[in-house]
Amino acid sequence: MTKVVVLTGAGISAESGVPTFRDADGLWEGHAVEDVATPQAFDRDPLVVQRFYDARRAALLGVEPNPAHHALARLERSLGDDLLVVTQNIDDLHERAGSTRVLHMHGELLSAQCRACGTRSRWEVGLHDDPVCPHCGAAALRPDVVWFGEVPYEMDRIFDALESCDLFVSIGTSGAVYPAAGFVRAARAYGARTLELNLQPSEGSLFFHESRQGPAGLLVPAWVDELLA
Ligand SMILES: [Zn+2]
Repeated sequence: MTKVVVLTGAGISAESGVPTFRDADGLWEGHAVEDVATPQAFDRDPLVVQRFYDARRAALLGVEPNPAHHALARLERSLGDDLLVVTQNIDDLHERAGSTRVLHMHGELLSAQCRACGTRSRWEVGLHDDPVCPHCGAAALRPDVVWFGEVPYEMDRIFDALESCDLFVSIGTSGAVYPAAGFVRAARAYGARTLELNLQPSEGSLFFHESRQGPAGLLVPAWVDELLA
């Protein structure tokens, strides 16, 4: 049996129509990243930040998982606990395709975090009108997403999985954002084979044993077929 860790990034969701903030103009839906994705931005103007993520959350209703998400769900049905998906994405497309073993290292749009008590709650509606925390009642909810300068979630579980995996596959990531950009070297150091599937060679391509270029919607189903053959 092969233990597999898959890292997914913006590229896999982009093929479903989810806009990324690493577009050529450096803007995310017309906003500079530092105006909507830092703790300082939230302290300065919480309403702008809340409205931005409310719009991203609402936009999830208009997108669907693509063949790459479905292929990873199919892989989980075969490998079970031997597959772990680590995603940098804050959308729920992996879950909607049927994946259950998913770690959202950068948080989730469909979650709110209380700044008073720290509780994370499933959240499907807006936050701009200051709703109260279901746990403690404080009107102190923020988007449960990891902003620049904050520590990603689940790093212990991720590095444990990298340590024991036989195969590490990176899908649709730029290879530019740490700590995720360092996962390939960690996995290799622990003895895993490493494969990159990306639209173009990434900044981290040279660290992989093998790099394939093309749309995730084509490359991922083909790779899953290969692995399960
Ligand atoms: Zn609370």
